[in-house]
Amino acid sequence: MDIEQELKKIKEEIINCRKCSLYKTRNYPVIGEGNHQAKIVFVGEGPGSSEDRTGYPFCGAAGKILDELLNAVEIKREEVYICNILKCRPPGNRDPQKEEIEACVPYLEKQIEIIKPEVVCPLGRFAMEFLMEKFGLKDQIQGISKIHGKVFESRSLFQKITLIPFYHPAVATYNANMKEVLKKDFQVLKKFK
Ligand code: URA
Repeated sequence: MDIEQELKKIKEEIINCRKCSLYKTRNYPVIGEGNHQAKIVFVGEGPGSSEDRTGYPFCGAAGKILDELLNAVEIKREEVYICNILKCRPPGNRDPQKEEIEACVPYLEKQIEIIKPEVVCPLGRFAMEFLMEKFGLKDQIQGISKIHGKVFESRSLFQKITLIPFYHPAVATYNANMKEVLKKDFQVLKKFK
């Protein structure tokens, strides 16, 4: 199977997924969007209300911030791939539950395996914790306020991948100073594009 076919297969699996109860309350699952051979993959937490209504990741208020951050480092949204830990919206934007994350992350793992990015950027705490653990960086996990914008190298026999956790762009929607922090952190991506 080629990349397109493999991603299409995952899309169908997600559309038909009943592994947790979130499918009952969501409108559309948010599978992911962007370049299927992206060097950089961004991983958010889960769909908000705009994403749930459209099926596209980061298309609401947090997405506007993400677009601004990408613009600031001259990276086009179409060059990267954007997806989430959870593919279905938790009602009322509550935090994802452990069982929901466990049920959903195999989709993200497959997306990363297929796209084979050089850099994975978790956006916010939930994505940061899951991805650092997945890539063997568990002992380096600290609060996002300590490690935002830092570059972590994960090496195994089979792959080398760079992880750069950022604050979730939504923080800048209620705290203007955080946009400047995020903008500064995003500068590091210029080295990887
Ligand atoms: N917040 C996220 O974590 N993901 C989205 O797709 C939108 C908002």
